[in-house]
Amino acid sequence: MSNRKMAPRRGTPVSKQSLALTQPVVVGPWNFHERLDRNIGAISSWIDRSNWPPKTRANFDRALDHLRHLPQPRWSKPTPASKIGDHTYVIRFKDVSSTQLRVYGHFYDVHHAFTMTLDGYEKDDEYHPENYEVLAQKYRAFCDEDFDSRTLPFEDLCPSCSANTGNGISGVPSTRGTPRTQPPPKMGK
Ligand SMILES: [Zn+2]
Repeated sequence: MSNRKMAPRRGTPVSKQSLALTQPVVVGPWNFHERLDRNIGAISSWIDRSNWPPKTRANFDRALDHLRHLPQPRWSKPTPASKIGDHTYVIRFKDVSSTQLRVYGHFYDVHHAFTMTLDGYEKDDEYHPENYEVLAQKYRAFCDEDFDSRTLPFEDLCPSCSANTGNGISGVPSTRGTPRTQPPPKMGK
């Protein structure tokens, strides 16, 4: 046994510290989920259908990777995402042909997640589909009402779900080999 567990007491009055428990969750790392649409992930199936070249896929991955550790208030330009509606955010990245691809979604604090619900694109400074805001709100209500059965982890980007494989997530057998990702150490930045 090590003798490390006896940390020296410094006499700090813990009760005086404000723990800010009432603050909304705004700091990552975020889990990424996607809307379940007839047993298929809406974003995954879009990616499958689109047959992206690796470079497009890399652009998308880079955007998610960037956003993952970004506090919610910093999901704004020039980062790859920003708030565009009541609760709606858009993730922006480019196709190899410089088409401006978009993914709409919202935060779901309870699961520390960003739920991607709808794909689209931007042309001449306009978002498509035209009714993206109505759709995004509708999907947000739909997903949040029953998060466990109406969303699924996006690929391996939800360490919270990976840690509880097969627990409440339907239709997602983890046959891909579960990466044993440890949660990153707290960096404070
Ligand atoms: Zn999850």
